[in-house]
Amino acid sequence: MAIIITDECINCGACEPECPNNAIYEAGVAWRWSDGTALTDDSEQAPVSDEFYYIVTDKCTECQGFHEEPQCAAVCPVDCCLPDEDHVETEEELLAKKARLHGE
Ligand code: SF4
Ligand code: SF4
Repeated sequence: MAIIITDECINCGACEPECPNNAIYEAGVAWRWSDGTALTDDSEQAPVSDEFYYIVTDKCTECQGFHEEPQCAAVCPVDCCLPDEDHVETEEELLAKKARLHGE
């Protein structure tokens, strides 16, 4: 499943550079499919949160194919990067998502 950032976030920014899919954005910043991926759509998408760092669900692979565990959760000082129960995916689905994002 994808990971979600809760409202416990203290906006420290530690997680953002750790994401292999560039799925994490600062509050209020527009996101793009093309950021950190092989996709070519560089149109600006509406921020998911104006208050806290946020994760784009469709870009989060739970770090499958890159790392043993979600890197955002590993570095977050307040443990607010949690499994998103509304977006449960199998390992196969997450690896397929990773392949789509990175053109493999
Ligand atoms: Fe990015 Fe991995 Fe966190 Fe998903 S779990 S947002 S892919 S660092
Ligand atoms: Fe928020 Fe945790 Fe990311 Fe810091 S590491 S910005 S507290 S989610």
